[in-house]
Amino acid sequence: MAPSSPQAPQTAANAPFTGRRRKVSSHLSQNEALLFEKSSPGKAAYRLPPLDVPEADAAALLGDSLREDAGLLPELSEIEIVRHFTRLSTWNYAIDLGMYPLGSCTMKYNPRVNELVARLEGIADSHPYQPESLSQGVLGIQRLLQKCLLEITGMDAITLQPAAGAHGEMTGILLTRAYHESRGNPRSKILIPDSAHGTNPATAAICGYRVENLRSNSLGMVDVGQLERIVTEDTAALMLTNPSTIGVFESEIHKIADILHAKGALLYMDGANMNALVGKVRPGDFGVDVMHLNLHKTFSTPHGGGGPGSGPVAAKAILEPFLPTPVLVEDPADGGRPATLRFDYSRPHSIGRVRMFYGNFGMFVRALAYILANGPDGLRQTTEDAVLNANYLRRKLEDAYELPYKTPTLHEVVFSDRRQARHGVKTGDIAKRLIDYGFHPYTTSFPLIVPGALMIEPTESESKEELDLFVDAMRQIAREVEENPEMALRAPHSTRISRLDEVTAAQIGRAPCRVRA
Ligand SMILES: *Cc1c(COP(=O)(O)O)cnc(C)c1O
Repeated sequence: MAPSSPQAPQTAANAPFTGRRRKVSSHLSQNEALLFEKSSPGKAAYRLPPLDVPEADAAALLGDSLREDAGLLPELSEIEIVRHFTRLSTWNYAIDLGMYPLGSCTMKYNPRVNELVARLEGIADSHPYQPESLSQGVLGIQRLLQKCLLEITGMDAITLQPAAGAHGEMTGILLTRAYHESRGNPRSKILIPDSAHGTNPATAAICGYRVENLRSNSLGMVDVGQLERIVTEDTAALMLTNPSTIGVFESEIHKIADILHAKGALLYMDGANMNALVGKVRPGDFGVDVMHLNLHKTFSTPHGGGGPGSGPVAAKAILEPFLPTPVLVEDPADGGRPATLRFDYSRPHSIGRVRMFYGNFGMFVRALAYILANGPDGLRQTTEDAVLNANYLRRKLEDAYELPYKTPTLHEVVFSDRRQARHGVKTGDIAKRLIDYGFHPYTTSFPLIVPGALMIEPTESESKEELDLFVDAMRQIAREVEENPEMALRAPHSTRISRLDEVTAAQIGRAPCRVRA
């Protein structure tokens, strides 16, 4: 499909949202050549003073290590480089620009106090090779974060090593495997509901388990009867997301845990949706044996662009012997010597290291700053606001978009494109049209139990004013689809690139399309 040019004159048909955003600013170039294309020989961003020592021959000094392609670097002035990158940065969408309603991702605002604390000299400049005796402060930060996370989850032991949620899943299932092995048999299968995130079955498979699919019932929850029938002495664990990916709390979670435990199986909780639970209920209290947290979701550390993230794994005491090494321990005060923190490397039952050094320390600092800045009441309020915001959107949009599950939802809401699909418009088209209205798209086509899903998670970061703008945009798109489906089918109209060849883009990791002249 030939996408329309962003420079095309605006007509009533392609006029974007007339609200606060989306004024086309003419001084902003949407065509930016590569630095290599702008290069002209001899230009440089600096000028060195004349040599006051004899000139040396680089080739003679460096030999084979002299790069022969160094001459291919672009040659530009400093301001050309600065403008190039500054212009590119304006093409980004970011949480600091507007709402980012990607369901299941909890794209909340990263408060500036997190950044302030993470940049403090003693914290930012600490080095992992620094001796423990000189690292008591940064070890204390890790210790305090561990304590807070254990309090929030109601678990007994924790590792901060994993670098993200999926990595936490792998760590948690390796712990599960080590636990069963220590009892004589690793067992062979892991149960996973059909609403699960794709990383769950990938994790189970990578840890050597066979995946058995658990069908959701009409409420979008685990079918407890079916679970009871298929759990056997060969089941290692159930991997459960609670609340589920359609935002529904598993109201029979105690019963689910009991069914598993009766057969010696463990309950793994995918904690990606903890933003619906913090300060209200604790997984450790409702039967969970092991879980991961996504600090970059629930605890506001920066998110997107590929990381770094952090996916701590919290577990019950039965799994503690298997935690990744090293484990942070505290030697109590002794006589005149104060209590000291150190890493314990002699853990004979450990699954081993899962990450170099101790994990993504900068994220620990930000998460702890967020937790302490909010305090227990603030965290509880955050959860309540996240749930309120999602339910506000649900109420405001449920007559425009199909709501496949009527079950009460918590921090996110999942609609389907059923009504719009009658006009040939799919969830991906609506998402692309949303870009023209100045919003980042919601999550499309996930979870798989909802065909044509629109998965929306506003988080507590958004004000009612921002939510209302989003509602206006979504309702206007729904109307537009009835009257002129082409608008969504050809969207986005306001970006420099319209429709990508998504398969090729995903396969080679970069868009094959060229900028339109
Ligand atoms: C985000 C997410 C994951 C994976 O977490 P990453 O930190 O992206 O690796 C797993 N499960 C669910 C439900 C998620 O939303």
